[in-house]
Amino acid sequence: MSINFYDKFMEKEKKLSKKSLLKDEDIYSKYDKWMKVVLRRAKEVGKIELPISALIIDEKGRCIGRGTNKRQLNKDPLGHAELIALRQAAWIKNDWRFNECILIVNLEPCTMCAGALVQSRMGMVIFSTDDMKRGGLGGTIDLSKHKSSHHKMRVIKGIYKNESAKLLKDWFKELRNVK
Ligand SMILES: [Zn+2]
Repeated sequence: MSINFYDKFMEKEKKLSKKSLLKDEDIYSKYDKWMKVVLRRAKEVGKIELPISALIIDEKGRCIGRGTNKRQLNKDPLGHAELIALRQAAWIKNDWRFNECILIVNLEPCTMCAGALVQSRMGMVIFSTDDMKRGGLGGTIDLSKHKSSHHKMRVIKGIYKNESAKLLKDWFKELRNVK
């Protein structure tokens, strides 16, 4: 019998609907490994790009999309980690709908990416650190709950929050030293 972590998670989530999901230790153990991968990949983004990395996990627990920030490298205003991961996953899935998938990213998606995640009907978004200046999932505006959004996705935040915040802080510190 194969253990489908997503199904098990959704089952448990229904039971826990009135409780705060962040208090559920299981979420940490289930997404722990993926958030670690996200953070490791973000670290590898290097000096020219903001260290942001995103993964898309399908209903079978497989990673079908990976993206790191490539805005500078590709001179592409759309080169955000989430959009790159979405494009790859859509190609692999051969579909633009992601209702049964999860996107995991270290920083709260910006308004552009949050809009794209709503448009792609992403089932769930897990992010690590809030972005109070640009975030589109609660930091400035919450597009997942906005009246323009017909698709309501589940958003979980705070997994590896401190590690992720430190990664970004160190990156900015280094950038200042270089200048
Ligand atoms: Zn973005």
